[in-house]
Amino acid sequence: MHKTIWQDNYSLKPFTALNESVSTEVTIVGGGMTGILAAYLLSEKGVNVVLLERNRLAQSTTGHTTAKVTAQHSVIYHELIEHIGLENTQLYYQSQLDAINLIKTIVDDYKIDCDFEHQQAILYTNESKNEKKLLHEAEAYQKLKISGQLQDELPFSIPVKQGLTMNDQAQFHPLAFLKVIVNHLVKKGVKIYENTTAVDIDVQEKTIVRTAQEYNIISEKVIVATQFPFYEAQAFYSTRMYPSRSYCLAFTSEDTYPGGMYLDIDQPKHSLRYVKHNGENIWILGGESHKTGQYRKEDDDPYRDLEKYANKHFPVQEWKYKWSAQDFTTLDKVPYIGVLNKKHPNVYVATGYRKWGMTNSAVAAQLLTDVILDSNNPYKEIYQPRRFHADPDVKKFVSYNTNVAKEFAKGKVTNTKYEQIEQNKATKTKIDGQTVGLYKDNNNQIHAVDTTCTHLGCECNWNQAELSWDCPCHGSRFSYDGKVIEGPATKDLSQIDL
Ligand SMILES: Cc1cc2nc3c(=O)[nH]c(=O)nc-3n(C[C@H](O)[C@H](O)[C@H](O)COP(=O)(O)OP(=O)(O)OC[C@H]3O[C@@H](n4cnc5c(N)ncnc54)[C@H](O)[C@@H]3O)c2cc1C
Repeated sequence: MHKTIWQDNYSLKPFTALNESVSTEVTIVGGGMTGILAAYLLSEKGVNVVLLERNRLAQSTTGHTTAKVTAQHSVIYHELIEHIGLENTQLYYQSQLDAINLIKTIVDDYKIDCDFEHQQAILYTNESKNEKKLLHEAEAYQKLKISGQLQDELPFSIPVKQGLTMNDQAQFHPLAFLKVIVNHLVKKGVKIYENTTAVDIDVQEKTIVRTAQEYNIISEKVIVATQFPFYEAQAFYSTRMYPSRSYCLAFTSEDTYPGGMYLDIDQPKHSLRYVKHNGENIWILGGESHKTGQYRKEDDDPYRDLEKYANKHFPVQEWKYKWSAQDFTTLDKVPYIGVLNKKHPNVYVATGYRKWGMTNSAVAAQLLTDVILDSNNPYKEIYQPRRFHADPDVKKFVSYNTNVAKEFAKGKVTNTKYEQIEQNKATKTKIDGQTVGLYKDNNNQIHAVDTTCTHLGCECNWNQAELSWDCPCHGSRFSYDGKVIEGPATKDLSQIDL
């Protein structure tokens, strides 16, 4: 995995792995922005919390975000008004404003030096069909009393038919922010364990989280904050969300950054912001998304395409960082936050942020804290995971599942001989009837793995940009030698002896 700009100058305090069974009031599984904020809010209310993290805190999607803190979640409000009504859409918007305020309040209270600053968020398009979408979105802004305006120019050489701004949004440095919160958690006595993978939840009189190292955490309640829920019982999250990866480049430019956080809504989408980093103004460009494990074309190279886009539109001086990450989208584009399912009233989930998890993790942390403490929260219903809006979800549900079903059977297999594989490249072959993924490293060593995903048995595909085996169904990812990198899988791919 490539190092992100955030990881370059911020390392969070390390924690040891859990090496005994323990009891607590609330167990939180997953130490990203969601898990850390939930631990913070619960511990502030005097709740005993144990926080478990499979790897290191905040190094997964949270460490790979672009960290815009905004309620402008691409074009969403017009669509939401049509599907869930004006009142519910108003609640969605208000929950996002509350989230921005929560983050700002924490920054102010602890005087966190994390470059939190207000910025305008700007959507734009150069396509006629999307121009209409932005005009509809602007109408939705009026109905929701969102402060913003249409504009038809950008301060870059990007051709634009229409733009739409949302005022008073923000951006920050996510790891600088979380570092202070984690230090505070330690002071409050929250027990944090890293390198500790939760593999199962057993609901008895209490709720027991079981770890890969065979220790138990016994608690009243469990929050599953693992992005895709590592434990989904029979709640079918696998069929209700899809993973999508995006790529980021950070560079210096000869031009002064004009301010603002930009997102085009044409395909492929691109996102832009800047950050002051080690005394330099760095531009962060994101985009070239695709469904995880499913590539857009033969020899797909999202970093190359992103670089091309940057060179075309901005005076790039020096490439500084590159990285990629993924997030999940739900059927109706609204996250699932709340009780896992009826059979698990003490297990909660927070997922499906659609790459807007800086605010949505704060929405989730507050909502779950309120639910656990039996306090009112006005947003419970709109985020509750059991909802199923029939329109337009059903169509998507069917087409997405057809897509997943295909991925169970797919996987291009060749008869390439080992010596024909180029260095730093991979291929799939059949050995004794089994599909095997072969990767040749720079020392000509071949790494062979069974490419059947250990989560639900889909066939993983090679990701040349990140040298990983990625599952197209539910987003589990494995290194070239089969180690779990991210996603719901908790077991490595089997290594094959050649
Ligand atoms: C390229 C990109 C750019 C983005 N930019 C923005 C942006 O500008 N603004 C915005 O609002 N959002 C953005 N997002 C979305 C946002 O970054 C994410 O939604 C958010 O970071 C998710 O946080 P999380 O805590 O839910 O998940 P994560 O950060 O993924 O944390 C989950 C944690 O759970 C751990 N875990 C998983 N399984 C287990 C297990 N079995 N046991 C123990 N631990 C486990 C993982 O190791 C991980 O650390 C972006 C996303 C992407 C992909």
